[in-house]
Amino acid sequence: MTTFSMPGSASAMRRRSLLKAAGSTALLGAAGLTAAGPARAEGTDTTDEESTFYDVIVVGAGFAGLTAAREFKAKGLQVLVLEARNRIGGRTWTGSFAGEVIEYGGAFVDPKQPYVWSEIQRYNIPLVASVEEERTVMPTGTGFAPYAPATAGPRMGQLLTPLFDGATEYFPHPTNPFYREDLLQSVDQLSLRARLDQLNYSALDRSWVSGILAGLSGGSSARGALTMMAQIWALSGWSSAGFAGLNGSRPRQGTVQLASALLADSGATLKLNSPVASITDTGSAVRVTTQAGRQYKAAHAVVAVPVNVWKTITFNPGLPSAFGAVSQATIGAPISRKIWIRAAGNVGLFGANTQEGFPISTVIPFKKLADGSVLMFAFCDDQTLDIHSVSQVQAVLRQLVPEIQVLAVTAQDWGTAQYSLGGWACRQPGQLTGQYRTIQQPQGRLAFATSDIASGWSGYIDGAIESGIRAAQAVAAMPGFAVASAV
Ligand SMILES: Cc1cc2nc3c(=O)[nH]c(=O)nc-3n(C[C@H](O)[C@H](O)[C@H](O)COP(=O)(O)OP(=O)(O)OC[C@H]3O[C@@H](n4cnc5c(N)ncnc54)[C@H](O)[C@@H]3O)c2cc1C
Repeated sequence: MTTFSMPGSASAMRRRSLLKAAGSTALLGAAGLTAAGPARAEGTDTTDEESTFYDVIVVGAGFAGLTAAREFKAKGLQVLVLEARNRIGGRTWTGSFAGEVIEYGGAFVDPKQPYVWSEIQRYNIPLVASVEEERTVMPTGTGFAPYAPATAGPRMGQLLTPLFDGATEYFPHPTNPFYREDLLQSVDQLSLRARLDQLNYSALDRSWVSGILAGLSGGSSARGALTMMAQIWALSGWSSAGFAGLNGSRPRQGTVQLASALLADSGATLKLNSPVASITDTGSAVRVTTQAGRQYKAAHAVVAVPVNVWKTITFNPGLPSAFGAVSQATIGAPISRKIWIRAAGNVGLFGANTQEGFPISTVIPFKKLADGSVLMFAFCDDQTLDIHSVSQVQAVLRQLVPEIQVLAVTAQDWGTAQYSLGGWACRQPGQLTGQYRTIQQPQGRLAFATSDIASGWSGYIDGAIESGIRAAQAVAAMPGFAVASAV
């Protein structure tokens, strides 16, 4: 088990110690417990962290959790972050492949995303622009053919735009999706496929857009809600140009640089390899128990794990039924498989969009390497494809670009990853107007943070940061918070 402790200044440390002592005593007293109360007896297997009474425990070190931890710093609080994996970042994961910095999960940021953009500026994170596609491979009805991006892009925009007719009315303020809830009631019942059905496109036109809708939805366009994609469309300025531009730039040294900056700034204690099994709210304190049986105590907790993972944690007392129901139903895209490919065969910087049902929905070029090979990434909607197999990936890509020779692949399957159980957030029909507002709400001494429940850019890093800030604000508004911080 690795522990990083990043204390702040000496005076901040002193203040945190005071807060810890006062908060602990006051809260234990309020609970009618002695100092030895619910804590395990001091023993040789008890870590310093276990014997400390924290102001806040944050469960999960993705962008939502790290942001919440950083927000508490300004309040001078002592914060423990418990992370299941052996790394921070969650559904962002910077790696290296073919000598390049790559992302297995979230990668791109955009100036239209206010939360992530302000963090990028705050920590001076250098960005790099995406490469321009040289050709775009699209369905032809009988197979695939390359198009000039200047032809394919505008046509794609023309085909997508009618899907979102009415979005200016039902999402007039896209960061507040409930602003015209009256208009949303019926539209929120539609899946992306149902909306496509209404448009009566030709088979060819439909094949141009259906793969994008299925990919976003996590495998089937019948799963994703029209209002999910329509909100992203609205946040992008209600335009195909804004929507198409979302993948324009990314942190040059990887998303991990921003995540690390948040962690360092938080001054929190981080414990990796610490999957949480249960969270008990005693009414006056929170007890968090890991799968290994370690117990940590705090005045409050921020639960910053994906919605799909909530069902794997035992909450005492139980949460309102909406939490379990949505976690079972899933918000995170159940099929979310990202493949990195290094290819030869003089294929150039090609992109591709395919029809629903084709194993790979999208290919995005990344870089031409010095040896002439090309680096690209793709999203796979087919659970049966071995995404780690050069020959299987090559066989699919050859249907798009017959001359391609795949040299190497590396991939991540987020849907089956234990601590994600899904990829980017994609709400299903009825979830926004159904349970979404409920699952955004704090419960007792717990606040919830994850991009999956963001009001704005849910499904993006920006939404994770938004939710972390909101969760920290929710904790600050809790009654017990005043006890801990009134010293
Ligand atoms: C393939 C892919 C591509 C994407 N592309 C983009 C993109 O280009 N741009 C963009 O903005 N967004 C993108 N996203 C979405 C973005 O990555 C996510 O919205 C965001 O990272 C989610 O952050 P989070 O903090 O809400 O959740 P997570 O990042 O999932 O963080 C949750 C943390 O909780 C931990 N955890 C889980 N269970 C436990 C437990 N029991 N105990 C302790 N810890 C636990 C996890 O290990 C994880 O670290 C993409 C996502 C995927 C999967």
